[in-house]
Amino acid sequence: MKVRILGAGPAGLYLAALMKRDDPSHDIEIFERNPRNATWGFGVVFSDRALEFLKADDQSLYEYLTPHLETWPEITVVHNDTRIPVAGNGFSSIGRLELLTLLYEYVERLGIKIHFEAEITSLDQLGQADLLVGANGAFSWVREENQDKFGTTVDWRPNHFIWYGTTKAFNSLTLTFRETEVGVFCAHHYRYQEDRSTFLVEVDDETWRRVGFDQMSPEDTIKYCEDVFAKDLAGHSIIANNSHWRQFPVIWNERWSFDNVVLLGDALRTAHFSIGSGTRLAMEDSVALFKALKNHKNDIKAALQYFQELRVPPMKKIWDAANVSIHWYEEMNKLVRELTPVEFAYSYMTRTGRVSHADIKQRDPQLAKAYEQLHPEAFQQ
Ligand SMILES: Cc1cc2nc3c(=O)[nH]c(=O)nc-3n(C[C@H](O)[C@H](O)[C@H](O)COP(=O)(O)OP(=O)(O)OC[C@H]3O[C@@H](n4cnc5c(N)ncnc54)[C@H](O)[C@@H]3O)c2cc1C
Repeated sequence: MKVRILGAGPAGLYLAALMKRDDPSHDIEIFERNPRNATWGFGVVFSDRALEFLKADDQSLYEYLTPHLETWPEITVVHNDTRIPVAGNGFSSIGRLELLTLLYEYVERLGIKIHFEAEITSLDQLGQADLLVGANGAFSWVREENQDKFGTTVDWRPNHFIWYGTTKAFNSLTLTFRETEVGVFCAHHYRYQEDRSTFLVEVDDETWRRVGFDQMSPEDTIKYCEDVFAKDLAGHSIIANNSHWRQFPVIWNERWSFDNVVLLGDALRTAHFSIGSGTRLAMEDSVALFKALKNHKNDIKAALQYFQELRVPPMKKIWDAANVSIHWYEEMNKLVRELTPVEFAYSYMTRTGRVSHADIKQRDPQLAKAYEQLHPEAFQQ
């Protein structure tokens, strides 16, 4: 089969690898606008669960990637000066550049050509192919130019976030919430290599405007965030890498393909970074598309139809959870002000509705007990 893939992110790379490994006669090429060694951002995280899919579906890639991951067994929630470690929530992380480099090498060893520094602006540039894959990320023009065919909806959320790094190595995935005179600041931070952590700062729209971030220089913005999180950074500085304030678009498509064109990964749907599943979802899309194509070898239309049928139910569960998580962060000013540190950590852990009190009891009996003591009425037999 002749396949042309737009975008060498996790979705496009993994689809190419799965197909070529299964059938070396496939003719697959990937087109990527960035040079090989350039990427935005710092590290990405996978929850324990997010890695399970890889372990189950692809032992060899799992073994190839895991030596490069930083892992830790707990999450820490910081409510102003109170730290609440929450056990039983394993996470792993890896630098985005490192993950992509490993995947580039993996697919190239299979004989797939990646064209770097190849900005593609029309499907015609990809030439004739049996399948054209739009794996070009959240701002995919393939999707935007064909939004009627895909039935696209985009819901821009009001919070603002900026993806920084720092030289401080944090020992667990930490969510730090600091109340200031102008509002609450949240940092999502975690180590992804020995001497580097991701440090993503998020604020609600009112706080962002009160500070005047829209008028502030990049240097002053870093300084401001360093001051807010001075206790957490402990003298380390914040590092920028193409860092700028963004708002999160919640993207969905009613139809995932037309003719021989299909969307994959973030182009297909975005899932808020607070649930640490964007990369996992992108790679799971690739597994589903690969399976669908294998099942319907000579019928692209049927394969693309089957891809959507197969993938919607498991993916929608996580996507729904991600969207509930977004709303929780939009309420953080109120939650930090009104809840005690224990209540706050508990609220964080149960925010998507996918973690029950029984789950908390099992994962972290101490947190469950502390919460029960604060709310005895809710737990009376
Ligand atoms: C702030 C932030 C934090 C995140 N944190 C996490 C996290 O902790 N854990 C996690 O799992 N996920 C996280 N994600 C999400 C994760 O990065 C994405 O979900 C994942 O990378 C999606 O993979 P993808 O292959 O679909 O798209 P992408 O990784 O976006 O790849 C798309 C590729 O297409 C290329 N491209 C785009 N347009 C063109 C063009 N015209 N021509 C050629 N090439 C093109 C791009 O250069 C890019 O390389 C985060 C995202 C953001 C924004």
